[in-house]
Amino acid sequence: MIQRHQDIRDAVAQVCSQYPGEYWREKDREQHYPSEFVRALTEAGFLSCLIPEEYGGSGLGISEAAAVMEEIQAAGCNGGACHAQMYTMGTVLRHGSEDQKRMLLPGISSGELRLQAFGVTEPTSGTDTSRIRTTAVKEADTYRINGQKVWTSRIAHSDFMLLLARTAPRDAGEKPHHGMSVFLVDIREAQGNGLTIKPLRAMINHATTEVFFDDLIIPVSSLVGQEGNGFRYILDGMNAERILIAAECIGDGRWFVEKAVNYANERKVFDRPIGMNQGIQFPIARSYAELQAAALMVERASDIFDSGEDCGAEANMAKLLAADASWKAGDMCLQTHGGFGFAEEYDVERKFRETRLYQIAPISTNLILSYIAEHVLGLPRSF
Ligand SMILES: Cc1cc2nc3c(=O)[nH]c(=O)nc-3n(C[C@H](O)[C@H](O)[C@H](O)COP(=O)(O)OP(=O)(O)OC[C@H]3O[C@@H](n4cnc5c(N)ncnc54)[C@H](O)[C@@H]3O)c2cc1C
Repeated sequence: MIQRHQDIRDAVAQVCSQYPGEYWREKDREQHYPSEFVRALTEAGFLSCLIPEEYGGSGLGISEAAAVMEEIQAAGCNGGACHAQMYTMGTVLRHGSEDQKRMLLPGISSGELRLQAFGVTEPTSGTDTSRIRTTAVKEADTYRINGQKVWTSRIAHSDFMLLLARTAPRDAGEKPHHGMSVFLVDIREAQGNGLTIKPLRAMINHATTEVFFDDLIIPVSSLVGQEGNGFRYILDGMNAERILIAAECIGDGRWFVEKAVNYANERKVFDRPIGMNQGIQFPIARSYAELQAAALMVERASDIFDSGEDCGAEANMAKLLAADASWKAGDMCLQTHGGFGFAEEYDVERKFRETRLYQIAPISTNLILSYIAEHVLGLPRSF
């Protein structure tokens, strides 16, 4: 299959080849952060590829960024450790002040600063973001933050976080999503001064945490854009996130198919390779076809995004189709491996767990379906 951006893909594969299965298995077992891997990607400039050249990045499009993420996953690595470093800065780039951009973006480009944590999800609000309870109350030239977030990933490996908090009650605005604001919180100053981070052990190694805000005081200069418009700013960043995560799913799926093909060719049962059986071949072939189709939707969404047009429908469909294809490919790969699929040393069970995340985060499959039903097909709003 012809793939776009082959030079970028080759360069990413070269870095990833230094981080084989044993590396990821150990990190996964101990739930340790893959700092060496993230540093290597940063130094190679891959994580700043979306930052414009005037701020020290390489100013590439989402299409190139998607190629980076896909190759990381296809090599068996886990880009979930650092994918947000690529796209979280987009909120500041689009809506931040020039001072915020100058303070942050060159540092991200050079690898001195990390902005790879965003706090949106809360324990009680779930997918209904309008019901978040974390508040930011303005007091002269500061904001006082109180509340709690959950599943805030990579915050312990980040210098700044983007925080969504209520600056006005839910019923004060015209719509439930009004009255929320985005803040750029300096974690280095906040931790221990009102910000507490508690690691959350999970099914996958994702450096995820619970975060508590108890009278955290931050300067008014932390506000990104205008007060009250925060939800729209977060929404603006979601298409990029969906496209990049869809690309990761394509990479996972490619890894599963390749692994299954190799095993089906090697493993002999009843005196012949198991791959001679159509019962083994067909699920592999089906996964391959499904991945190719999903990859086309990722390309289409990327092209529309890079042209500056609205790609909401395509980005959502790309994420849906790619996450479904990778999850099915993971199941197929496990089945092809029989009992050995459960053995740590094959990495199949690890990748199987990791790719499962994308049915739920950053947005669950049901919510994408309801987006398509309502916004693309014109069906009534269902919630
Ligand atoms: C490993 C991990 C890392 C994460 N990292 C981050 C992060 O860095 N920052 C962050 O802010 N969040 C993060 N999240 C949170 C993630 O975005 C949410 O888990 C996800 O959006 C789903 O929200 P929820 O868990 O509250 O599910 P809920 O909203 O409680 O939903 C539960 C189930 O009900 C379904 N459901 C809910 N409402 C409807 C409806 N109206 N119609 C049909 N089905 C519905 C959902 O699809 C889901 O399957 C992370 C989550 C995980 C697991």
